[in-house]
Amino acid sequence: MRVLMVASECFPLVKTGGLADVVGALPAALAEGGCETRVLLPAYPTVAAGLSVTQTVATFDSLFGGPARLVLGKAQGGLEIVALEAPHLFDRPGNPYVGPDGSDWPDNHRRFAALAAAATQYAADPGDGWTADLVHCHDWQAGLTPVYLKRYMRVPPPVVFTIHNIAFQGCFPAAAVSELGLPLEMYTPAGFEYWHQVSFLKAGLVFSDRLTTVSPTYATELRTPRFGMGMEGVLTARAADLVGILNGIDDTAWNPATDRSIAARYSAKEPAGKAKDRAAVQAEMGLQPDPAALLACVISRLTYQKGLDLLAAALPALLTGGGQLALLGTGTPELEAMFVAAAHRYPGRVASRIAYDEGLSHRLIAGADAIVVPSRFEPCGLTQMYGLRYGTVPIVARTGGLADSVIDANEAAMQAGVATGVVFDPIDTDGMRAALRRALALHADGAVWRSMMLAGMRQDVGWVRSAAKYRALYEVLVSAAGG
Ligand code: ADP
Repeated sequence: MRVLMVASECFPLVKTGGLADVVGALPAALAEGGCETRVLLPAYPTVAAGLSVTQTVATFDSLFGGPARLVLGKAQGGLEIVALEAPHLFDRPGNPYVGPDGSDWPDNHRRFAALAAAATQYAADPGDGWTADLVHCHDWQAGLTPVYLKRYMRVPPPVVFTIHNIAFQGCFPAAAVSELGLPLEMYTPAGFEYWHQVSFLKAGLVFSDRLTTVSPTYATELRTPRFGMGMEGVLTARAADLVGILNGIDDTAWNPATDRSIAARYSAKEPAGKAKDRAAVQAEMGLQPDPAALLACVISRLTYQKGLDLLAAALPALLTGGGQLALLGTGTPELEAMFVAAAHRYPGRVASRIAYDEGLSHRLIAGADAIVVPSRFEPCGLTQMYGLRYGTVPIVARTGGLADSVIDANEAAMQAGVATGVVFDPIDTDGMRAALRRALALHADGAVWRSMMLAGMRQDVGWVRSAAKYRALYEVLVSAAGG
């Protein structure tokens, strides 16, 4: 079976969040079950630089304001990429979505309509004969794909649409309907109209054959006003077609036994190296070299979603219990300032790096005792799964994929030896504070903590099981389509 993925991010070529990790890792896991995948991506400068191009598979005289072409290439690791080279849309430095002044690029509607149009062109007429049996779209940037497919193909392939985060909806003024050549009859509340705007996300939700999201709990949460962010009605109407499949992690990139970016390698069988990683992180981050302290880390976008203001407010509970915090993240100025101030206020106990740093993220996960993820909502979350893999105990809010991937250290779970972390609610400062105190108490008993670390390290957080679920879903759709 051939699957064309359409996405705006793919690790290691371009990444702002977990979407990239999923799109980068899922194809290899699918391949093991005989599913051939190509990923169609915008040729941002980092994508163009990271590809060895083999051939041109389509050309466009004019695609939303300039010439463009689709090229086939291989990324590091052998992942097959179809890159949309459209310099007028994508040859821009920095973040894929926002310009240097911090606001969205004013032509984002054209940029991501071009992505969908290119996907349609490639599905309808693959210049290299690679005919996709199914198209798998990711997040709002790919949302117009099923609309164009329906419009331009007599028998379009089935489309799966995955919601990685409902907060990003790709809404644009109504003028986009004619500018982007969208069918006017679909610009209704039952179609892609959303409060008199065009929503790319809603287009994907309404016109795809099946919907998935990245954890079972989030699939349920999405149908409620608290989490659905206005799309709960659409998702309730499509409940029968919506399924939650928990993300895996790339367990070759994230493996403490082979990780080249950490000071010492270790495993569940030979855990000794973790103490060296811990000492190395304390030294690198300027924390006191205290071997007994509970060293907690955070690796995150610093936004309201991630609930890190709750951690900042509850920080004294960690510190009075002898704990330390090492944070790596970038985000809103207020949250960045909050953690810079905390580091000044508690030197040697709190360290903050306001940066995006892949290598440091590995060193923190390896060196810390715990990872804190207090998100207000979290479709899946990856860092708690890195934590499980590295024996770094997750302290997480009870929501979305956090609730699905971490087993709380309640008494029954402890007795059964299956607890892997601390899961807390309500998701507020009191809940956070109580969770930190609970973690400190668990950490104080070395044997208890070790059993949680080992239970986490034994947990299967790779892609094999989830990839099998995607494959099963694809197979149902492709055979129903007569493939
Ligand atoms: P989201 O996609 O909402 O940002 P996820 O937990 O799903 O959250 O994925 C975040 C990904 O980005 C993880 O791979 C995490 O390690 C990485 N990440 C986030 N912030 C940073 C940072 N400052 N430096 C390095 N990696 C980061």
